[in-house]
Amino acid sequence: MNFPIPKQDRSAFVGELQRYVDKSRRDGSLLGVMLIHLHRVVELNTSFGYKVGDRLLAIVRDRIGKILRPNDSIERIGDHDFVLVLPSPKNVGHASLAANRIVNVLEEPLEIDGNAIKASVAIGIALFPEHAQEADALLRLADVALAGAIQSNSPIKICAEVPDKGTLSSFIIESELRHALMNDEFILYYQPKIDLATRQVCGAEALSRWNNPARGLVPPDVFIPVAEQTNLMLPFTLWSLNLAARQFGEFNRLSKNFSVAVNLSATVLYDPDVVDLINRTIKIWSIRPEQLVLEVTESAMMVDPKTSLETLNRFHDLGVMLSIDDFGTGYSSLAYVKKMPVNELKIDKSFVMNMDKDKGDAMIVRTVIDMAHNFEIAVTAEGVESQLILEQLAELGCDCAQGFYLAKPMPAANLIDWLQVSPWARQTGMRSVTG
Ligand code: C2E
Ligand code: CA
Ligand code: CA
Repeated sequence: MNFPIPKQDRSAFVGELQRYVDKSRRDGSLLGVMLIHLHRVVELNTSFGYKVGDRLLAIVRDRIGKILRPNDSIERIGDHDFVLVLPSPKNVGHASLAANRIVNVLEEPLEIDGNAIKASVAIGIALFPEHAQEADALLRLADVALAGAIQSNSPIKICAEVPDKGTLSSFIIESELRHALMNDEFILYYQPKIDLATRQVCGAEALSRWNNPARGLVPPDVFIPVAEQTNLMLPFTLWSLNLAARQFGEFNRLSKNFSVAVNLSATVLYDPDVVDLINRTIKIWSIRPEQLVLEVTESAMMVDPKTSLETLNRFHDLGVMLSIDDFGTGYSSLAYVKKMPVNELKIDKSFVMNMDKDKGDAMIVRTVIDMAHNFEIAVTAEGVESQLILEQLAELGCDCAQGFYLAKPMPAANLIDWLQVSPWARQTGMRSVTG
């Protein structure tokens, strides 16, 4: 058995599929396309290393191979998916039967390095000519069906009918996101955070971007809400945590006492595995726990205050730092915050941006800083766009600042340069100051 199994490029595969479609059209026969998604490969890779993920894929392919007919063809496409082409199925039922056999053959746990691992799959099926007449659309509809299977937690979904335009676009963006995650299209930008007492950088917040080949850089406000509706948010967060933790090593080498902050969505906060996954991440990348900041919004915490308190306590026990993001936009109950093991409040930028002109905003900022300090919670102001506001915040005793005036979010490589040349980063770890 060979592994890692070579990955077929999606556009090359579409070309190959088109040849099958053309032949089926000539022969007047049906053609089935089945996308088989292997769950938990990201988690397995994170927990046990890429080799285990690769071996799992190889064993799964081998098992599926044993039940295929001679003319069926199976390819790996992306990191966690296989695509199976079924020439001349008699009808939809025939394709569905094949999918059932695949699910059954994977029931038996697989053995990898003495560990019994249960491979769990989701399958999406689309048929020529019933669902689409061309390869590209056929594959996309198999993707839509697969997204539906994953979303509804069912192992198999057939593209029963052509969805209307509205549903299609929402499905497409979800399947696009899944595709983007598998194809490494997401990147992390970092925005530095400045300690107002020393006027020196003390960390950075990781902010994701989607580098979409067709649309360019897509901001998180567009794709995070879609990801939150799907079960992609946990693998996405694992990806961002691991990348931030890895890149952190280089930032920390250049800047003493650096911390890196990652945003956690509500869906991730309530995942039963999240504490263990974060614990594993800091161990794998040898980060001191206090150098990782988890940013959670107040509204995420309020979805289920009892459970979030339990989770935040477990994070606190790990020693990671906890920050309440967008403070002031939700319940803003400092009495409630007092009960949480919170290290930092981030005052929402909507109050900070106008505090030089709006007395009410300035008053809110002042009150939050004073009350947080009474509870020994540090305060970061986000959205600092001018020197005037920076000085106002320093005057009010605010601990840290983040905003376009100091630095815009930037790719990791630019942050590495910035840490070596910016006046906000003079006391760096590696560089003895020479001028
Ligand atoms: P956020 O966590 O409140 O992040 C701060 C946002 O304010 C960032 O927008 C940042 O670029 C922007 N910002 C920073 N300084 C200034 C300033 O001086 N003026 C103005 N007008 N804006 C400033 P961005 O990067 O577009 O991120 C938007 C939101 O998307 C974030 O808000 C966060 O809630 C979410 N987000 C980003 N990356 C991730 C992620 O990896 N996971 C999760 N769960 N959420 C993310
Ligand atoms: Ca944030
Ligand atoms: Ca914020």
